[in-house]
Amino acid sequence: MRWKGREQSKNVIDNRGKRGAVAAGGGLGLIGIIIAVVFTLMRGGDAGDALKTAVTQAAKQAAQSQAVSGARDATTSEADQEMREFVAVVLKDTEDVWSRLLPEMGIRYRAPKLVMFSDRTPSACGSATSAVGPFYCPGDNQVYLDTVFFNELQTRFNAPGDFACAYVIAHEVGHHIQNLMGKSMEVQSQQARLSKKEGNRLSVRLELQADFLAGVWAHHAQKMKQILDPGDIEEALVAAQAIGDDTLMRNAGAAVRPDSFTHGTSEQRIYWFKRGLSRGDLREINLPFEIAYDQL
Ligand SMILES: [Zn+2]
Repeated sequence: MRWKGREQSKNVIDNRGKRGAVAAGGGLGLIGIIIAVVFTLMRGGDAGDALKTAVTQAAKQAAQSQAVSGARDATTSEADQEMREFVAVVLKDTEDVWSRLLPEMGIRYRAPKLVMFSDRTPSACGSATSAVGPFYCPGDNQVYLDTVFFNELQTRFNAPGDFACAYVIAHEVGHHIQNLMGKSMEVQSQQARLSKKEGNRLSVRLELQADFLAGVWAHHAQKMKQILDPGDIEEALVAAQAIGDDTLMRNAGAAVRPDSFTHGTSEQRIYWFKRGLSRGDLREINLPFEIAYDQL
């Protein structure tokens, strides 16, 4: 993919190297110390002791956050910098495509923020670890991306290449589009009334629609900016193949049980990505919800 030196999005929040608690909290500070002392006095305690405890605690927190920012500096290697640049360029491409296409459907595009994190991150959808993989949280309109997943695409899923990563980002932004269009809410409220099996089928449709949207994005990004190198589409297809539910289950040594699918088979994921890619026609957006389930 041609991304070096291109314009970057301003909506990337790089929290890699920050640990959840410190990132969210912060030190006690002087006000905190005063409050702690006053509180102790009110309860009839010893101001000296309270002050000592508060100061020790503040010092500990300061040291901790220093250690964290130290760790952060250490991780801001060239590779990390490059990864951030890459993610910001792809995100910018999604912003440019969707802010042009969505108004044609009568919807104003509000770009999501993308949070890069390591290990664990707080989100409006709860605390998440790297183990869940990249995800979109409709509660705060943010895409969460542990870039370790990109390495996993290469090592564990055997789907290397920068465009494989771009496809993953575009898929998550696709969930944001669904949120803006009210599709996610609609599915959620339907799922509350359905059996688990029926609910899973709706999840599959939603995921295939996100793959379709990733394809539509690639179609228009290519048209607008010529972003593709030879072999890029194959990279995305290999990734879509690798993270299909059937392939994941088979690789995990489990029997393939279609009722428990929530993302669709490899074949389905490839089909819907390609469908969006070849025509780039956003008017087909509801097809994954209209076609009979066994025809998907
Ligand atoms: Zn998804």
